[in-house]
Amino acid sequence: MADSTGFLKHERALPPRRPVNVRILDWKDVYLSRQNGEDAVFPVPAVRQQAARCMDCGIPFCHHGCPLGNLIPEWNDLARRDDWTEAIERLHATNNFPEFTGKLCPAPCEGSCVLNLQESPVTIKQIEWEIIDQAFQRDLVRPVPPQEHTGKKVAVIGSGPAGLAAAQQLTRAGHDVTVFERADRVGGLLRYGIPEFKMEKAVLDRRLDQMRAEGTRFVTGVEVGSGRDGDLTVEQLRSEYDAVVLAGGATIGRDLPAPGRELAGIHLAMEYLPFGNRQALGELDEPPIDAKGKHVVIIGGGDTGADCLGTAHRQGALSVTQLEIMPAPPDRRADNNPWPTYPMVMRVSSAHEEGGERLYSVNTERFLGDEQGNVRALLIHDVERVDGRFQKVEGTERELPADLVFLAMGFTGAQRAGLVDALGVELDARGGIARDGEFMSTVPGVFVAGDMGRGQSLIVWAIAEGRAAAGAVDTWLTGSSMLPRPVTPTAVALH
Ligand SMILES: Cc1cc2nc3c(=O)[nH]c(=O)nc-3n(C[C@H](O)[C@H](O)[C@H](O)COP(=O)(O)OP(=O)(O)OC[C@H]3O[C@@H](n4cnc5c(N)ncnc54)[C@H](O)[C@@H]3O)c2cc1C
Ligand code: SF4
Repeated sequence: MADSTGFLKHERALPPRRPVNVRILDWKDVYLSRQNGEDAVFPVPAVRQQAARCMDCGIPFCHHGCPLGNLIPEWNDLARRDDWTEAIERLHATNNFPEFTGKLCPAPCEGSCVLNLQESPVTIKQIEWEIIDQAFQRDLVRPVPPQEHTGKKVAVIGSGPAGLAAAQQLTRAGHDVTVFERADRVGGLLRYGIPEFKMEKAVLDRRLDQMRAEGTRFVTGVEVGSGRDGDLTVEQLRSEYDAVVLAGGATIGRDLPAPGRELAGIHLAMEYLPFGNRQALGELDEPPIDAKGKHVVIIGGGDTGADCLGTAHRQGALSVTQLEIMPAPPDRRADNNPWPTYPMVMRVSSAHEEGGERLYSVNTERFLGDEQGNVRALLIHDVERVDGRFQKVEGTERELPADLVFLAMGFTGAQRAGLVDALGVELDARGGIARDGEFMSTVPGVFVAGDMGRGQSLIVWAIAEGRAAAGAVDTWLTGSSMLPRPVTPTAVALH
């Protein structure tokens, strides 16, 4: 039974981030972490106090806010009572990888927490992180190998959170699972998109150790269906495996075909961030795209842009400006964005705390170059919304100096060339792979999970889709399944 008055006794509190002038000098987590030997940052009693703020309100809107259906009030109370063994049991019951979401989720659950009616929700995401971190510290995260093997072989293509969740569920259900990844390491965007300072790769690696011990096989450096020598062909894939899960992500970045786009120094965000991650891991001293000593402009005001911002500052950029075509969000919920929907309000990410300037309601008209063909500035102008469309505010044109430009304007969908074309699966109108209510594509036995079907989304949705698709695959292979299905392919966030 929760402490129904805890929220009256304790204020909402979160662990402090490391000082900006210190953390900007390295790539480590912006928070102190036990992995780095930095304990007692936010001591366990403080976490327990925060967990005590959950009143177990009876109708847990937070469940509905969380695509995984995490049993939030239950593990909040277990954390409050210092019962980390039971807490991780309850958390793992719905989430294969609470450490990814505990670090990286935008926490829609907190938007729908009843205490958010007063704008001080329970620190659900932080408590989630603490439960799994305590579990690893206490050696409570052990391999869960299957008790019986079905003899069925499943190939999972792509090792991001969707592929990993599907693979872990299917391995535990007794299938023989191989995950194929074209990159040299496993993890998808967790490995080469999301920077080290948001989630250290050691956090990913300790989970992969568990998966290997359970029997999941990983094959890296293989792009399935590419048609290149040494890569697995679609014919091999179909003949060697009883079922296939496509979890290749929505990897095609949205471009900006403005005049001057061909100038040197303009890159898609995902051309840049993997080098930053390799630099952070000490694999590259001088990344091919380096913000050191440069004036950087990032087009796109979202999370990917913020990741470019934090990376550029750590590389020693002279200045960083982030442009956003939308107006600045309000500080508090607007009337048309009521609780318990996700609050569309101004947020200051760790990267924004570290510097840089954010410009809102601006559009890029053209890129301007120097005589050597390098970008030297952007011609931008203000915009306003008229009848739902952006219109230029005449007379506001100005130049914004830039030596390096990153396009972080989202992703348009799955890569078609190679695997998708070779398999002959159909796409939907949004550029994702079309699937039915059972996560199956238009080719029987080929299932789809994560951004590749849903389109650009979030880690929590990718894990939920991976879990649900695994349930569908298991049913298709064996006729029935005990695996949970937290979401349907068409489920959407509370809105
Ligand atoms: C820079 C950035 C930062 C982000 N930050 C956050 C965040 O903080 N919080 C959050 O919730 N979400 C964040 N997201 C979104 C989140 O990372 C994605 O929604 C999530 O990773 C999608 O998971 P996925 O498994 O579907 O695909 P991905 O993570 O994209 O993984 C797909 C994998 O499939 C591989 N692949 C593709 N085709 C093939 C093939 N033919 N053969 C073999 N391998 C193949 C790719 O190489 C890739 O590794 C971020 C996204 C980006 C780009
Ligand atoms: S996964 Fe995200 S939405 Fe779900 S409980 Fe954790 S932080 Fe909240």
